[in-house]
Amino acid sequence: MNNLVHRNCPNCNRDRPKLLFQLSFEQFIYANPTHNIDWFKSLGFTEEDKFNFVKCINCGFVYSQSKLDEKLHHEFYHIGIDRQKSLSKIFSFRKRVQLLEKWRKLLLIAQQEKDFDFSKNPLKVLDFGAGWGDFLAVAKSPGIQVYGLEFDKRKIEFAKSQGIIAGGFDYVQNHSPYQIFMCNQVLEHLDKPKDSLKELRSLLVDGAIGFISVPDFRTEILNKHIKEIELGRQPVKTINPWGHLNYFSPESLRNMIFEAGFSEISLQTRPSSKSKKYQIQKLIKEKVLRFAANKQKAKNFAYKNADKGMTTSLYIKAV
Ligand SMILES: [Zn+2]
Repeated sequence: MNNLVHRNCPNCNRDRPKLLFQLSFEQFIYANPTHNIDWFKSLGFTEEDKFNFVKCINCGFVYSQSKLDEKLHHEFYHIGIDRQKSLSKIFSFRKRVQLLEKWRKLLLIAQQEKDFDFSKNPLKVLDFGAGWGDFLAVAKSPGIQVYGLEFDKRKIEFAKSQGIIAGGFDYVQNHSPYQIFMCNQVLEHLDKPKDSLKELRSLLVDGAIGFISVPDFRTEILNKHIKEIELGRQPVKTINPWGHLNYFSPESLRNMIFEAGFSEISLQTRPSSKSKKYQIQKLIKEKVLRFAANKQKAKNFAYKNADKGMTTSLYIKAV
């Protein structure tokens, strides 16, 4: 396990972990359909290799206790994640509508801010973790300039083919400051999320508005997952010691963003939570009926979808 590096608590930087649960190598590599299994298998890890998920005794933050070293981390994102499978996820009506909805809300909030007059000065939008550039492609329009922070070369190249320019920190710093920003499903991937939030804040004008979202691992949800894992079920794909290093609750996310120099504008609890929950329950019911002949399969399916897509999503402001 020489490729792994020990992590202190990414929130308070202390090293006082309490073990919550472990995953074996085989348990997590099959959980995410975008994983390139051949690459994982080539690494020489075995079923004996366990990965610890811990809670900081000092501050209560939940995190993956190890991360990949620099070389393997680069390979994980450039080879371990299958390009086609990852890219294909952006070609969905549902996802496109979600991005438009977020952009619409940001425009409505910006509209209330008198300082934002983009008839004279273009509005600059930063996507902090731009991925394939699909959000910026939605936002780009007359008077709106878009910039992406991204380190995956395959994603930068694709975004460029769509007229969206993304690059490293120096690139986005050179074009700062920004009035609007997006940080969608990014913080959970980062080794030092608090430092990254401070870096993000340094690129923004005072009063900049943005959207931030991470998977929801509030205690009740996390405990449910741990119970299922202890029963031997495969974890959900959001529990992944290599890709997802941090497991935020709504409270720990808020504490971190407030400390980094942001305030909350409004909370979108689990995108229209009632209707989403109803839709998921309906879907589970239909599929479980279809799997009725295979009870174990039905149970696994129901578990994997019960908290699917649960996120903590906030609209925030740089203060
Ligand atoms: Zn801590």
